[in-house]
Amino acid sequence: MIARVVVPIPLDKAFDYTVPEAMQSSIQVGSRVVVPFGRRILTGLVVELSNEERDVTRLKAVSDVLDTRPSLTEEMLTLTRWIADYYMCGWGEVIRATLPSGIDFRNTYTVHFSATENASAALNESTKELLHTLRMHDGSTLDALQKIDKTISLTTLRRLEQAGYVRLESALKKPAVRIKKARHLTLVSSIPNQQSLEELKTEVRGPQQHAVLHTLYDLQQEGSEIPSVSETLARSGASSSTVKSLEKRGMLRIVEKEVLRTPLGDMPTNPPKPPIHTLHTAQVQALERIHTAIAASRFETFLLHGVTGSGKTEVYIAALKDVQKQGKTGIVLVPEISLTPQTVTRFRAHFGDVIAVLHSRMSPGERYDAWRALRSGRFPIVIGPRSAILAPLENIGLIIVDEEHEGSYKQFDPAPRYHARDVAVMRASMNKAVCILGSATPSLESFSNARIQKKYTYLSMPERVPVPGKTAAPLPAVRTIDLTLEKKKKQLTGVLSKPLKEAIGQRLAKEEQIILLQNRRGYSSVLLCQTCGWSPMCDDCAVTLTYHKVQHHLRCHYCGKTQKIMRKCGNCGGTDLSRLGAGTQRVEEEIEAHFPTARLLRMDLDTTSTKNAHHKILSQFERREADILIGTQMVAKGLDFGRVTLVGVINADAGMLLPDFRADERTFQLLTQVAGRAGRASRPGEVLLQTRNPQHPVLQYAINHNYELFAKNALEQRNTLQYPPFGRLVRIEFKGPEEGMLEKLSGEWARHLPQVAGIQVLGPQPALISKIKKQYRFHVILKASKKITHNTLRELVAQASKRAKSLPKGYRMAIDIDAVSLF
Ligand code: ADP
Ligand code: ZN
Ligand code: ZN
Repeated sequence: MIARVVVPIPLDKAFDYTVPEAMQSSIQVGSRVVVPFGRRILTGLVVELSNEERDVTRLKAVSDVLDTRPSLTEEMLTLTRWIADYYMCGWGEVIRATLPSGIDFRNTYTVHFSATENASAALNESTKELLHTLRMHDGSTLDALQKIDKTISLTTLRRLEQAGYVRLESALKKPAVRIKKARHLTLVSSIPNQQSLEELKTEVRGPQQHAVLHTLYDLQQEGSEIPSVSETLARSGASSSTVKSLEKRGMLRIVEKEVLRTPLGDMPTNPPKPPIHTLHTAQVQALERIHTAIAASRFETFLLHGVTGSGKTEVYIAALKDVQKQGKTGIVLVPEISLTPQTVTRFRAHFGDVIAVLHSRMSPGERYDAWRALRSGRFPIVIGPRSAILAPLENIGLIIVDEEHEGSYKQFDPAPRYHARDVAVMRASMNKAVCILGSATPSLESFSNARIQKKYTYLSMPERVPVPGKTAAPLPAVRTIDLTLEKKKKQLTGVLSKPLKEAIGQRLAKEEQIILLQNRRGYSSVLLCQTCGWSPMCDDCAVTLTYHKVQHHLRCHYCGKTQKIMRKCGNCGGTDLSRLGAGTQRVEEEIEAHFPTARLLRMDLDTTSTKNAHHKILSQFERREADILIGTQMVAKGLDFGRVTLVGVINADAGMLLPDFRADERTFQLLTQVAGRAGRASRPGEVLLQTRNPQHPVLQYAINHNYELFAKNALEQRNTLQYPPFGRLVRIEFKGPEEGMLEKLSGEWARHLPQVAGIQVLGPQPALISKIKKQYRFHVILKASKKITHNTLRELVAQASKRAKSLPKGYRMAIDIDAVSLF
């Protein structure tokens, strides 16, 4: 028997191994196996088994089969294969992403000292010291040695091995995470009634042993047939030696049972019963369509376009109950930032403990347990961020992607660089399941798939859920404050305009709450006319040019074209061109100076770096321990505070000036989301946008809550420039320690790319963020028209990579299909 095995390496290749006789009955497609791989030992996954007769003399044998039940189902094998094909990465890399980390067997080395005193005489001091350490710890594993001395590496040891000082021996390293177990008790013969308990008691002596039997009887009466040892001891007051002697006498057995580690910790296990709403008309209409597809078990994707507060979540819950009744399972994807206790509690209130919660801050043990529980069918519903789309559920009936426009659904590092929304649609189709993509501001990709391509069914919920006795809560009034006008009136001294300060003062006086948004990311590198708000753009790519201080020029970081820095504004001729500035801290300082008694909270990358910080800040604000919340785009999403009546956006233009072809789309989404925060309860809300471009169409669309018009215009622009959804983007990123070398490597790669009509090659050139953690970054962007098939695209990229010289040590290349971030 031959097993085809995939291992977690970047190469998209599978390797054949023979299966020893003894393992042939247990090995299955989808099983994890331990295999020798070069000088290493790896955990791989069986993707194919065959009994064909062929020459196997050159094949190595599988060393061990790890699973009694395959880790991956047929469906997951198909899905992971598709992901590897589509996103151009190793199948093993995708498989690794679907399995919890830390369960792999890996190889390590034991190091045996074998040098003589004399031989070391000519060595330098540090090597002598190292040899001394190795002799002291003769026979230790590499990992143990590295704990003693961090500088010891496999390379150093290999060198010493060649010189004859040490001998390396390959050894297996156990997985980092294990199944957690607890000891439990069962009685060998049951005690049906009080009388048999008394009879049993005559067989043993001592009050402690009697107490244990009593306790076991009681627990059994209470329905606990196999209580844990610790509970039995605590209740009977006996010691563990008593239990042991009872075991020795053959009266009871000790068995080990698995314990599930859960991240839910202090969450209430039985949240109060949720209110059962009578769904309003739009919800009913949407659900009818969804219900029909679910009932017919047919694949259909719905784009649920509903304004914030229109009751989308209620629709998700009703649809999930539908598939639950069918005995099928469901996946709910939410952006990590929305995975708040509020959301989780809401779902758990409806589904109790059959819903598993995944998030990115789980410990490896918790992750492992959650995976095993899901794999065993213990939880038919799972809610989690991006990676939850790879959860090992079977018989999937429904996949929901909430806030489907969110960029965080795209994975970048490590591979696979998949888009969870697109994988969701694919996985739903493989399962003949229903997929619901929900958003108040759908991505242009999904919108076009629904309205132009008609691939998705479009469902609309244009109004907020009506408050009883009233008409639908109105969307908040949005007003702009023209900063250039304020400046002319000499009323703009800092970052806060006079009208905004006045509005803040009024809300503070009424003890209402305020959110201030300062979206700063990466825009200080953009030039801006302080008089009219104009910014220089690349004519070819429709993105803002970035300012490079050192070379003193402007550059388009898509196509690489450079321009001299102009002295005059290209729109009004004004000379006051300068870079943008001022982050959240600056806003905080100004508020403090102006409203010394106001209580402030700040939420940005600095204040949310620790675990739970994000949640802590939000709940403080919710408990009204602060009047003003200042933050980056983090504050805009998924929150619902009844007391917030004013939302101020410090610089509504900032997002639009990002050198990104999606800048308009992101700004529209952000402003719409943030506007949705104000006045959600009975108090009417107001949104103030500070801008230098009050007439900018995107701002106008956001102010008028006009998604349709925004989408129509944005799609026209995308079409002209062949951006998604009218074309596809592939970004090839090169990373490494030396800039010159990177330029050479990326240039060579691009030169080897076959020229094909319909594919435009932009670059290579430095990425916008040209250096991260001492690593320089270069990229090449491929813009492919819709006519180019995925196979052609893949073929081209593969050819260039094959023909170009392989990368030297320390340099990396990453292929990002359908890249979302082009920074
Ligand atoms: P979305 O997900 O679109 O933001 P939600 O589903 O969270 O909207 O609904 C907003 C609020 O309205 C929630 O507090 C929810 O409990 C409530 N709600 C939703 N549907 C109804 C309904 N049919 N009747 C009454 N209240 C509803
Ligand atoms: Zn100007
Ligand atoms: Zn350009």
